[in-house]
Amino acid sequence: MTDTAVTEAGRDFIRDIVDADRVAGRVSTIVTRFPPEPNGYLHIGHAKSICLNFGIAQEYGGRCALRFDDTNPAKEEQEYIDAIMRDVRWLGYDWGPYLHFASDYFEQLYAWAEHLIRAGHAYVDDQSAEQIRVTRGTLTEPGRNSPFRNRTVDENLDLFRRMRAGEFPNGARTLRARIDMASGNINLRDPVLYRILHAEHPRTGATWHIYPTYDFAHGQSDAIEGVTHSICTLEFEDHRPLYDWLIAHLPVPSHPHQYEFARLNIGYTVLSKRVLTTLVRDGRVSGWDDPRMPTIAGLRRRGVPPEAIRAFVQRVGVARANSVVDIAMFEFAVREHLNKVAPRRMAVLRSLKVVIENYDGPGEELDAANHPDPSQGTRKIPFGRELYIERDDFMENPPKKFFRLSPGTEVRLRYAYFITCRDVVKDAAGNVVELRCSYDPATRGGNAPDGRKVKATIHWVSAAKSFPAEIRLYNPLFTRPDPGAGGDVFADINPNSLEILNEARIEPALAQSNSDRAVQFERQGYFCRDDASTPGRPVFNRTVGLRDSYAKA
Ligand code: ATP
Ligand code: MG
Repeated sequence: MTDTAVTEAGRDFIRDIVDADRVAGRVSTIVTRFPPEPNGYLHIGHAKSICLNFGIAQEYGGRCALRFDDTNPAKEEQEYIDAIMRDVRWLGYDWGPYLHFASDYFEQLYAWAEHLIRAGHAYVDDQSAEQIRVTRGTLTEPGRNSPFRNRTVDENLDLFRRMRAGEFPNGARTLRARIDMASGNINLRDPVLYRILHAEHPRTGATWHIYPTYDFAHGQSDAIEGVTHSICTLEFEDHRPLYDWLIAHLPVPSHPHQYEFARLNIGYTVLSKRVLTTLVRDGRVSGWDDPRMPTIAGLRRRGVPPEAIRAFVQRVGVARANSVVDIAMFEFAVREHLNKVAPRRMAVLRSLKVVIENYDGPGEELDAANHPDPSQGTRKIPFGRELYIERDDFMENPPKKFFRLSPGTEVRLRYAYFITCRDVVKDAAGNVVELRCSYDPATRGGNAPDGRKVKATIHWVSAAKSFPAEIRLYNPLFTRPDPGAGGDVFADINPNSLEILNEARIEPALAQSNSDRAVQFERQGYFCRDDASTPGRPVFNRTVGLRDSYAKA
């Protein structure tokens, strides 16, 4: 795929609808919103909705609001509100003055509920949630009318006002729309509009004892804000007739329309807030920002840049059919971006000592390129008599196709010299603990004047002048592409999702930088300094591995 394909705004059926509405003069300013419920952190599925809503507003010179759907205080917290704002901004979007809360509309929503009661379109039901569920019917059977359905307007108003005043316990009564218990669409069988909930709200405190349902709050909030295109995921398709019914029966200031698209699903990944909340609460991960989590906070901590998330979401596109995206497609987008911007550095993850027997002298500094793009310059790396190389880059008894270091073979040390392995030192248990090598001083910089070739180039660091580091390698959090398909999603948690390497060594440039920008450890992958780093002990997270390395075995 070319770069243009990534940066150009994609075309999709929603943008086609927006175009048609503009051409027909049905709308002038395009208004969208991203409506998270503050009951958890945002994940990469939300990023799809964010990019779509904010992206469309940007492309058409309209506006996109950030609206918190904060109608269920039992599950919502200020921490989530703060995290959501931070994450939307970090993804690169700005809601400007359009920061809204459904709770700002509670008074208006309440007034509209009374409007429905007065018009005979809503009633107070004394049935329990369970009775309402049982009498709702099924896809093949109609529901049954509530015995409270024919209360007078006055009785309904009185009861509803007393619900608001907090006179009744949780669950004692609800306000229901009076539509049609035989409707083919179950959402139209007298849906609940208000429920009693004695709970402190993060914004309205103890003011309210009743809270509107999603269905009652959402479309009316859209109408208040002048939303033209209310874009949501497919599970709300069956709610659209109710959305339209409420807009048609209320004196709302504008008439928004709802459009549905397929939610993002990714292999080996769970994007259910319920499951993610449980992982955090039960300590299965270190928190919402654990780098194994598909949350925006987790991806950020892992080193994934916002550009990669946007490019990925754009490449996935917007469709009406549900599908599962391969996790490799996400990793590709991350690699593609980091390959362009990440500085190259050398780090040895699992170290093996090398002594260059014919090298004496105090050591020297060699030039190393910061990036294949020469405009990114060079840096100095210290070289000396004692080095570390990657344990995997040596084999005492190599198979035929192993071209890296083994007794008697010559390889190139990246940016340094050709070395040849002369001898192997072992501990009492027979493990290789050190290699005795020789180097060819004529190969400084990595090329032989006589033109002789080596089959491999390996990375290394100076033993004396490198620094210890902790490296955290991440594997998928779930063991199957469709976590939970076997019945219990928690049974599919990968016990090996985190691997900690305690004896890594990093070049000085890595120890000095405090940047949280991702870097490429040559031949290893992209890594990012973790917040858990201390001055004496840097910690790096592997963002994503490299598909290729320049010295193939
Ligand atoms: P729940 O409603 O169960 O708490 P949710 O993931 O739908 O979970 P919301 O806060 O309601 O959470 O989501 C905010 C917006 O993000 C909604 O418009 C929703 O449709 C959209 N969204 C959520 N998950 C995805 C996904 N996987 N792909 C695309 N959009 C999503
Ligand atoms: Mg939702």
